[in-house]
Formats: sequence, C-alpha cells, structure tokens
Amino acid sequence: MVARAGSSIEASATSRRATAGGALYVVATPIGNLQDLSSRAIDVLGSVDLILAEDTRHSAKLLAHYGIGTACRSFHEHNEAHQVARIVERIAAGERMALISDAGTPLINDPGFRLVAAMREQGYAVIPIPGPSAVVCALSVAGLATDRFCFEGFLPARASARRRHLQTLAAEQRTLVFYESPRRVLQAVADLAAEFGDERPAVLARELTKIHETVMRGTLAELQVWLETHVEQCRGEFVIVVAGAPSADEDGDTASVSTRDLLRALLAELPLKQAVSVAVGLTGGKRNALYQQAIALSGAGKEESSHGEE
Ligand code: SAM
Repeated sequence: MVARAGSSIEASATSRRATAGGALYVVATPIGNLQDLSSRAIDVLGSVDLILAEDTRHSAKLLAHYGIGTACRSFHEHNEAHQVARIVERIAAGERMALISDAGTPLINDPGFRLVAAMREQGYAVIPIPGPSAVVCALSVAGLATDRFCFEGFLPARASARRRHLQTLAAEQRTLVFYESPRRVLQAVADLAAEFGDERPAVLARELTKIHETVMRGTLAELQVWLETHVEQCRGEFVIVVAGAPSADEDGDTASVSTRDLLRALLAELPLKQAVSVAVGLTGGKRNALYQQAIALSGAGKEESSHGEE
C-alpha cells in the first residue's frame, strides 16, 4: 500500500527540484463522516514523517479511527507564517510531510496557502491527495447550475460590509457558493434576499455527510422563513448555494431582455446613476441589480470601444 504513495512521489518529482524524496502532501480529510477518507490518504498519512494538522487534538480522532500513529504537529493560521521556512528546509532535506485541516481540503478557507506558495516558489514537490470539500459536496447535490460557479467563502461578519459585498455580487450570473456559520446563517439569507431579490432560487446545505444532513431548496424568501420557523435548523455547518442572476438571453422573458436594452439606451444618453434611476422607475426592478447590470454594460462598452480604437 505504501508503495503506491512512493510511486506517486517519483512520478511527481521528475520535473521538480531534487529533495532526496522529500515532499509535501496536501491531504483532504472528511467533512463529517469518518468513512470519507480515501485509501490513498490513509496510505500517505500512515507513511509520512510528520503530519501538519490545523488542530492536533481534533485530528487525533480521525487518525485513531484508522490506526495511524504518525507524529502530528500543530499548523494553523496563527503559527503558519512563523513555521514555513523551517518546514520547507526539512522537506528540502528529504522529509515527507502531510498537511491536513480540521475538515475537508486544506487551503479552502483553511491554513496552508503560505506553505504551498513557498514550496512552489522554491520548486519543491507538492502533491494533492484529493477528497471531500464542502463547496463541491454542496454543489453536487444542490441541483443548481454547476457548469460555472464562483466560490465566495465566508461573507463579511459585519452587517454593513456584508450588504455592500452582496451588492457587488447581485448581477453575477454564475452560481454562487458561500460558507456560513450557524450564528449568522439566518441574517445572511435575509441579506441575500434583500440584495438579490426574494425570488432567487437557492439551496441550504447543512451538516453534509453527518447525521443531521439537510439539503433544503427554495427561493431566498422561502429559505429565510423556513429558518425563522425551524430554529433547530440554524445549528451546525452550512453551505449556501445561490443561483446566478438570470441573463437576458437565457431568461427568454421579453421584459428582462428589454430591461437590458433599455439600460443600454439610457446609458448612451445619461450618467450611470440617472440611467439606473430611470430604469428602476420604468421597470420596477431592484435598484441594486440594475445598478450592477448598468456597471457591467458600461464596462463592457468601454472595453469594446477601446478595442475598436486599436
Ligand atoms: N476546508 C474546508 C472544505 O474544504 O470545505 C472548509 C473549512 S471552513 C473553515 C469550514 C466551513 O465549511 C464551515 O463553516 C461550513 O460553512 C463549511 N462546511 C464544512 N463542513 C461542512 C459540512 N459537513 N456541511 C456543511 N458545510 C460544511
């Protein structure tokens, strides 16, 4: 079994700086269900010289479950910067280390970026051992478009910053994915409804792969009411998946197509803010969504004309 991990070292190291076999393995671990650790991950965690764990006590449970006795050292956002140089030095000297976080894939809203960047900059081997991540797990069952999506991680904790940030995303046409804490999930859904419109389809993916796994689909307004009336559903870990803003083309709705054309025509004659105000008055649409659409249209217009001038 260990030979499989060894052969991947050789294959991956051919184009990299010699490290006498040293490498950093970035290992995804379960997001709830301990069975979701891949057999390759078990091999690697069991055979490396050291495991760098976000929280050694948290990971001890997973490692014990698989009978893995490899030494562990704490590696988290507060000591990462301080440790990077020494870890890279040890790997350069031939040690094999695995990086894990408390759950899911390291670096995805988890520590490790500085270390992986330093390893890459210096040309040393960084080998992915893929597995669970809440963002992909939620997308895979949400039933919302997955051909293009953007991952936004956690929204700002402060209400004003969160609303401002959401305003910049209101016209985004790709599916949006957010992580959220139980303390803020209700307020986040309420703010999403306020900025994106009550009718935008969305999915709340809660406690994925765990006993209380719940995947709830509805409009943002429906999900807000559901959370307000089911307080027990506000506990646990959440991914919020939100449908992208409809494009004029895919909508097929002549009113929406003409909103875009109307905005384009207004922008040709008026300053942006005035164009948006007139469009709001004429269509009854959401000011923020129209504002973002106007910014996108005027930005695209500038680009087209500057290309044209070349
Ligand atoms: N590295 C992790 C990954 O790959 O998904 C994410 C770590 S981030 C610090 C933790 C957040 O991920 C949680 O607050 C929650 O939003 C989301 N999350 C993690 N596990 C989850 C689960 N089982 N169900 C739903 N969301 C989860």
